Amino acid sequence: MAVSFQDSEITAGWEEILGKDKYRLMFADIAASYPEKRSIYVPYEDIDSYNTDLAMYFLDNPDKCLNKGKDVVKASLPPAWDKNDTVNLRITNLPRDAKVEVRHLRAKHLGKLVAVEGLARKATTVKPRMTRALFRCSRCGAEIWENQRGVLMREPLMCSNPDGSCNKQATQFELDAKASVYTDTQKIEIQESPEGLRGGAQPERITGFVEDDIAGIITAGNRITINGIIRSAEKHDRDKSTVFEIFMDVLSVEFQEHEYDEIQITEEDELRILEMSRDPRLFENIIASISPTIHGMNEVKSAIALQLFGGCNKEMDDGTAIRGDMHVLLVGDPGVAKSQVLRYMSMLAPRGIYASGKSASAAGLTAAAVKDEFGDGRWTLEAGALVLADKGLACIDELDKMTPQDRSSLHEAMESQRISVAKAGITATLQCRCSMLAAANPKYGRFETDGTSITKQIDLPPALMSRFDLIFVLTDKPNAKMDRELTSHILNVHRRGQVRQIGEEAPLVVGVDIKKIKDETRSIKPVYEQEMMRKYVAYSKRIVPVMTDETMETIEKNYLGIRAMGAGENDSVPITARQLEAYVRLSEASARMRLSRTVEAEDAARSVHLVEYYLGRIFASAGGQWDIDMMMADHSKKEREVLKESDELSIIQSIIDKYGTSDGVSEEEMISHAMNEGMPEEKTRKKLKQMIGDGSLYNPRNGYYKRA
Ligand code: ADP
Ligand code: MG
Repeated sequence: MAVSFQDSEITAGWEEILGKDKYRLMFADIAASYPEKRSIYVPYEDIDSYNTDLAMYFLDNPDKCLNKGKDVVKASLPPAWDKNDTVNLRITNLPRDAKVEVRHLRAKHLGKLVAVEGLARKATTVKPRMTRALFRCSRCGAEIWENQRGVLMREPLMCSNPDGSCNKQATQFELDAKASVYTDTQKIEIQESPEGLRGGAQPERITGFVEDDIAGIITAGNRITINGIIRSAEKHDRDKSTVFEIFMDVLSVEFQEHEYDEIQITEEDELRILEMSRDPRLFENIIASISPTIHGMNEVKSAIALQLFGGCNKEMDDGTAIRGDMHVLLVGDPGVAKSQVLRYMSMLAPRGIYASGKSASAAGLTAAAVKDEFGDGRWTLEAGALVLADKGLACIDELDKMTPQDRSSLHEAMESQRISVAKAGITATLQCRCSMLAAANPKYGRFETDGTSITKQIDLPPALMSRFDLIFVLTDKPNAKMDRELTSHILNVHRRGQVRQIGEEAPLVVGVDIKKIKDETRSIKPVYEQEMMRKYVAYSKRIVPVMTDETMETIEKNYLGIRAMGAGENDSVPITARQLEAYVRLSEASARMRLSRTVEAEDAARSVHLVEYYLGRIFASAGGQWDIDMMMADHSKKEREVLKESDELSIIQSIIDKYGTSDGVSEEEMISHAMNEGMPEEKTRKKLKQMIGDGSLYNPRNGYYKRA
């Protein structure tokens, strides 16, 4: 049974608590440095240690208790204190049971003091709001103060002056905007942290109003806990509605200081983690715990596993920073489980975020300053996926569909891991120290095997491509043996799912050997459950491994070996220093995964294998020549010698413009004219096919071409 408290008991409580030396000092400090300091912060445990029941009563009746507290605060200030100079009373460090997840906020929380943890997705600029309006009666001139809460101005109903000449009848008032009292306000939107989300649920959001001295301390992308009172407001969109929107009047804000704070590692966990790290099959086990329902893709899974652990961020003596986070790109035909892998990783990785390149949000993948209805006409800073994934993993699907804005700003964000926004009074630098796991489809929907290099079929700017440590090409070509394996795997996944779904009753289903099915599909169950993986990863981040001499040699030898392939008559550049850094990051990650303080030769070997594997696959598609410029620059060595793509385009267009009839130009004519311009026959045929494909040409009749 909850204990109830009289007003006098509450006041007595506050007098006792705020009478302590600690608070006397705070009051003195405020008196000396007002208005810079104008809040008294009371941690919840101070109320709790005074009286546990009162502390609990406070959570249920915060408005009443705070009002009593504010009276005590006023009385504790020096006698000469101006009554209009408000000092705030802010409660911090709410207990565990006052913490509510956004998705669990209900009507029962209205008027209650709760703590909500999450990511600040939006934050408006700070603007003054009128808190006390001064009105003058238009007949008798009496001054009337009205407290203001909402967005709409509240006017007096009638003149309250009993002695006025208007005889309390007047209903016309003038606002004295200059003499009214204002406070700073900021509106924020909190999105529940991804850790609370399971099964790919959409994150829920809540709006918070932050006032006075704490307005403006939150920026989009911050990981915070907001403590405050839940209130409701009528929805704006209808005239009169019984559906109310919930928001929070924020009393105090706490910033999450440490990385991976949200992951608790107990002593017991630590023992288990150390035991896991000593398992000779550690690497295999970890790979088997990544998307086990997806068949094969061993290299991709190894790469993603290493990405999860990450290389080490370094700050050099001259102040420059070297990124440790790795970026991985999967480009592939439709239906090869790219999206599936990304979704899985966004759930598995600490601070994982899943977003699509073609997302509808204004912030896109990075961040934006927007003026929309959320800000009620003021500018709002909105954080995109990369900012929300700060110190985590950003899983970006359909990267090729991203907006032109993201296209131009993304590589900057990936490299410097910062995003600057300067627009309309908002200047902010948002951190996006995340790894990125991205997926994209080929330019024409599916990889073509007509000899066009794979990299030419990826619709991403070269500058962006070069930021990825590893790029995997996933093709879906019929292959009897692999098809058989995949088919049986997928069918087994479904059958195991069916058996799991039946659950307890499974043994009763006749005609199927449940135990045999479960045994046969054991590999579809992750070796380490997700919770444990997250703890293991978080734990490993404490380690900064150092390369041994042998490791340095292995990497050097391998890198120089590949470099040398470009020397001589070939004269291409097979690999650049960017890939050398990738070697280092991958090796560090591998050592971290073993919780090793040193990066050993085995770690280097693992990274060498991955880099060679991905480069080999890409270069094989282009006739086996190792030429990094093929993918990382606009023109490879080979292409620089021949006509540029844009020239080809304009040659074909000008031929149509010059020789075209109402039927367009026939293929034979086209080839002969193009030949005169120095364009070989097969080039012309290919270009025509490509231009038909992208819709810039069409066939008015068979064998003829016209501009669309
Ligand atoms: P993408 O994003 O590459 O177009 P999806 O992730 O949507 O492909 O995958 C399509 C479906 O095919 C998913 O249901 C996935 O489980 C299945 N699938 C494709 N490849 C595999 C695989 N290697 N192992 C298991 N399932 C697969
Ligand atoms: Mg997909």
